[in-house]
Amino acid sequence: MLNTRGEGSMAKNKKIKVAFPHMGTISIAWSAGLRKIGVEPYVPPYTSKKTLSYGTKNSPEAICLPYKLILGNFIEAIQGGADYVAMITSPGICRLGEYGTNIHTTLKDLGYNANYIELSLYDGIKGLYKFLKEISGKNDPILILRAINITMRKIFAIDDLDTALSYYRAREVRFGEAEKNYKKALRLIDKADSTHDLKKAYDRALKEIEKTEIDPNREVLNVDITGEIFLVNDEFSNQNIERELGRMGVQTRRSLTVGSFLKDAIIPKAFRPPETHLQRAERMAKPYLMRDIGGDALECVSDVVFADEKGKDGIIHISPFTCMPEIMSQNIFPTMREDHEIPILTLIMDEQTGKAGYITRLEAFVDLMRRKKRAKLGKQKTRI
Ligand code: SF4
Repeated sequence: MLNTRGEGSMAKNKKIKVAFPHMGTISIAWSAGLRKIGVEPYVPPYTSKKTLSYGTKNSPEAICLPYKLILGNFIEAIQGGADYVAMITSPGICRLGEYGTNIHTTLKDLGYNANYIELSLYDGIKGLYKFLKEISGKNDPILILRAINITMRKIFAIDDLDTALSYYRAREVRFGEAEKNYKKALRLIDKADSTHDLKKAYDRALKEIEKTEIDPNREVLNVDITGEIFLVNDEFSNQNIERELGRMGVQTRRSLTVGSFLKDAIIPKAFRPPETHLQRAERMAKPYLMRDIGGDALECVSDVVFADEKGKDGIIHISPFTCMPEIMSQNIFPTMREDHEIPILTLIMDEQTGKAGYITRLEAFVDLMRRKKRAKLGKQKTRI
């Protein structure tokens, strides 16, 4: 349901500037949707230590990291001239249901009188439709459906580019080349403002990443990344875990992506794949977890089983400090280790997490997976 709690009214004649918080590269998709309906996207500076410090200074100490970063993004957006800040909410079992009210109250207490809008994604496509209609002041179903379409297509295109980046980064000859090409690819996707242009941009973007020179004989490990969705997809808050792993010769796959979330929460049933991530989670998380306990815990537990079945070399679970659902899933992993061979690494992140200790843990995990893989291959050769 759309919930506008602004101090002003929706301007119909002036182009209003609307900002969403960051989560990885998602600004590319929502900017395209807003432009389509004639609203100016305001992209706040990408999350930085300054953003985190704004958020931390004005948040309850024990609240989870995404809350602090989102609040920081909003403060920077308002300071930069955004007229509206848009918050994505859900009536979830965890703290996400409280985020909206707390953030709005904090912004008001700090004297930021920008208009505040909430978009509840769990109202599905109807909620998104209402949101875009209200924010644009236009009752034009075709225009709004086009805006939803371009937003979703960009999300899926970027998911594919992320997959390609991960493949090339784990094998690149010159460190950093794949990411440099990926950034060029993202710019192409960002510029495309129609589905026709996006198709062309997508092909060119993939070709851009494929220019990366690779060593096809590099010994590469395959690792799935699961955890709380914000941390999995936001490179600032996960300290760019995929780049660090790529440098160590690890190809990563995010178990939770914005695209997979869309398939579960937004895309109408008739257009969904035969089994969505959530449906698979409900099937595979049993008998370890029998029902949704909020956040992404059900998906995380099932992702371990899935990764093991797919023969992955390991799985990494990332969660924010004090995240209630992920504390539960981490407490289930020891039982799962008895039934599943796959190595599991759990990482808990907060604003205090230091880079050096974190890299040491990743290196030790990669070393363990590599030894395990070599031992397995050795055994297979002996049998031949
Ligand atoms: S899932 Fe965890 S981190 Fe995300 S809002 Fe809920 S408690 Fe916070």
